[in-house]
Amino acid sequence: MKTTDNKTAATAKETIPRGVTKPKSNAASGLTELFEDSLKDIYWAEKALTKALPTMVKNASSVELKDALDNHLTETEEQITRLEKVFEIVGKKATAKKCDAMEGLIEEAKGMLEETEIGVVRDAAIIAASQKIEHYEIATYGTLRQFAETLGLPEAATLLEQTLDEEKGADKMLTQVAVNAINLEAAEIE
Ligand code: FE
Ligand code: ZN
Ligand code: FE
Ligand code: FE
Repeated sequence: MKTTDNKTAATAKETIPRGVTKPKSNAASGLTELFEDSLKDIYWAEKALTKALPTMVKNASSVELKDALDNHLTETEEQITRLEKVFEIVGKKATAKKCDAMEGLIEEAKGMLEETEIGVVRDAAIIAASQKIEHYEIATYGTLRQFAETLGLPEAATLLEQTLDEEKGADKMLTQVAVNAINLEAAEIE
């Protein structure tokens, strides 16, 4: 039998089982919407990072770490522009929607500043917090690139992959800085 109702029975209010979250009225019903919502989330996250990174640079003592963070701040600004291009590709206005995860990660990073003495120990904490941020971004851009590919948006997929590679590079760079000096020195002053 043919039906014009494209909502499955499971999304009808009365059939949602106990413990299953009820979708909002504007909830995504397809991958395109989920992709666009995820773009808004990471757009907010990248913008928040451009505000948080200068604090991390100021708090770092190692010149190598300051440079690495500064360099990633420049990349982050380019990533925002790249996201705006992706919004253009999907024909949507670039909009930011609060990313709860990034808000929490930034809050944790700031908390770690208070909890560490200035110098190598704080530098080690900045690296630890920054790598958690990079890993969140790596996960996000990996997913977004795959969504773009599935949706038949190769241009968007390429842009998202460029950013994915930068995030992986930033993560590696932070490991390098930690291995080179900071962690060893921080261990020595125990
Ligand atoms: Fe980023
Ligand atoms: Zn996010
Ligand atoms: Fe998020
Ligand atoms: Fe990043």
